Amino acid sequence: MSNINRHGLPRNIPSKVKVAVRQNSRFGCVICRSAIYTYEHIDPPFVDAKSHDPSKMALLCPTCHTLVTKGRIPKEHVSEKYSSIQNSSFVKRPSDQEFFIHYGKELSVSLGSSEFKEFRSIINIDGVDVLSYQKSSETDAYSVSGIFYDQLGKELFRIVNNEWIGPIDVWDVEQVGCRLTIKSSPQRVLFEAIKDNNKSELSIIKLDMYFPPFHVFIDSGRFLVGQYGEDINESAYFEIDGTFSHGDCALYLDSKRSSQLKPSEVRMVGGKGAWVEGTGIWIGYGSGQMQLRRIQFFNNRCKIGARNVIKKSIEPRADQNYFVVGSLDVRVIDHPLWIEQEYFINGQKLTSKPFSWGKIDEPHGKSIELFHISRSEPEDLAINPGFIGFYADDILSKEWSDRVFEVEVEECGEDGNYTRRVKRADVGNRRIINAFNPGTGKPFHPQEFAGTCPWKEAK
Ligand SMILES: [Zn+2]
Repeated sequence: MSNINRHGLPRNIPSKVKVAVRQNSRFGCVICRSAIYTYEHIDPPFVDAKSHDPSKMALLCPTCHTLVTKGRIPKEHVSEKYSSIQNSSFVKRPSDQEFFIHYGKELSVSLGSSEFKEFRSIINIDGVDVLSYQKSSETDAYSVSGIFYDQLGKELFRIVNNEWIGPIDVWDVEQVGCRLTIKSSPQRVLFEAIKDNNKSELSIIKLDMYFPPFHVFIDSGRFLVGQYGEDINESAYFEIDGTFSHGDCALYLDSKRSSQLKPSEVRMVGGKGAWVEGTGIWIGYGSGQMQLRRIQFFNNRCKIGARNVIKKSIEPRADQNYFVVGSLDVRVIDHPLWIEQEYFINGQKLTSKPFSWGKIDEPHGKSIELFHISRSEPEDLAINPGFIGFYADDILSKEWSDRVFEVEVEECGEDGNYTRRVKRADVGNRRIINAFNPGTGKPFHPQEFAGTCPWKEAK
């Protein structure tokens, strides 16, 4: 195919003309409204055209273009449609089945430089999904749905059963290859995303979305989430950069949770992601793994401080568990998305209910308990005021240990072979038999006799 026609007109269409054709066609094929399109000279056709004149061109999808070329759709009909779309206030919105569909096995969505792998909901505000990928239980296919909003809180576009339905009343919507861009003015980008089907990735690289009281802003690799107060001049912004995987919701915004706009700390809670205290902003809700690289706070759009909130972490070995004394506080939380119980030990939040080893009677009628907490709690429990250690030895050396549990070792078996059995008794004033496990040469690990069965064989 020649790059110029017989009048010397280059095939390349100047970008200014392309914008005009997109605007005139209201961002979709003028016949069927598909958002996958090419720029076509209608009358005269490109071979006879002397200029790229937007008034003589239109957007056509590949199917409609073929039908026009074969004469099955008359050119007059295309011109008629093109002018009626420009003059009517009731125009069907452009749509396509492709852009948000996900084909791969493991879906990864980036919001700025933060990456979310295998999240069911990408953004959810007060229980409403802005973008979500539901995996079918029968096939491995994902079903995409959602609604995005613009900088004023008005609907920008929606995705219904995998079908993207774009806007008609913005300045520009452009789909080139695997990039989708929506602008409210030549300079202001409201949404821009790139997808890579080979890598199973969708990257939202620009977003300017307001959903009172929240503002989500993504630009130049930065991912900012803001919350406004009743006085619109008061705001708090939170910027995050991290990698999260296998969770419920990448960005969860809960307007009922917000009480004040003075974020003091980011709480990182195992399975619950990172929560900015004092706001309703959650990142990586339910994530199995989370790696935070950077967090910053801004107040009223001014930078008020940047600090590394990731505390020194002591990682227990695979066979170890945390042992913490203190009081357990169980709170019932009525989320729009989840109704759940939250567990706090000495004010520190846990992912799951800790296992009690019994009560310790302290002076002044105060009652404390000893808790065995799974090592899968990523929260750094080693800095909890009640933390006593990882080993059985740590517990056995405590002065109250004989008030909490008892260990008995008995020998049985035949022909000189013996099995050691370890028993965990009820709370009581009993003595501990400081028995050594012949296998390890160390005192029995409480984990070796934890569980529902009071008798457990220790190897
Ligand atoms: Zn079409």
